[in-house]
Amino acid sequence: MSNKYKILLIEDEANIQTFVSALLEADGYQVICTQSCSGGKMLFSSHIPDLVVLDLGLPDGDGMDLLKHIRTLSAVPVIVLSARSDEKDKVTALDLGANDYVTKPFGPAEFVARVRSALRNVRRNVENSRFILGNLVIDYDARTITIDDKEIKLTQTEYNIIALLSQHSGKVMTYSAIISAIWGYNDSGSIKKLQVNMANIRKKFGAVPGKESYITNELGVGYKMNESVR
Ligand code: CA
Repeated sequence: MSNKYKILLIEDEANIQTFVSALLEADGYQVICTQSCSGGKMLFSSHIPDLVVLDLGLPDGDGMDLLKHIRTLSAVPVIVLSARSDEKDKVTALDLGANDYVTKPFGPAEFVARVRSALRNVRRNVENSRFILGNLVIDYDARTITIDDKEIKLTQTEYNIIALLSQHSGKVMTYSAIISAIWGYNDSGSIKKLQVNMANIRKKFGAVPGKESYITNELGVGYKMNESVR
């Protein structure tokens, strides 16, 4: 088993470090641990991990700074771990390039599922310039979206939003990241504009409770194109 994914865990609370590393090892991952920002920096460079689990509150600095540092070096998936349930922190971490955000306390099954999802190639659903998710198919060349082989008539903006989310499937994109990518600027009316577009898309997709869910709305944070349908 030399083919194990290597996960760097940066967490200063001993009981959480033990808990998380046991969880990951039980799932077949190789885990490297450190309790500090400086240790994280060092181990990141020397081990080149496949994924990083990063606690925000560390004794020798802010995990956000370490996240920034990692992003200057690599696009490795980063899951941020934090006791803070503040939405602002989630948004900051995601905007700095975190792939996911887990608030303590968290359930073991959910945590491992998020690790698995972050490790999957984000382009897994894409083949021959098509994105496929359940019955939803996006054809990037033709710029069309079909559900159950029926074409969904979207405006240019609506299509652009869906294409963008699909290209980052499995990752929450913050409101401001989506707005900058679609409109190129952020102003006070932008979030409202995005929400109106999303509401129209939802309507056109025929989203009803219990039906296949393609997009998750993380309230106050952003939107995510799911990687698999529930
Ligand atoms: Ca901590």
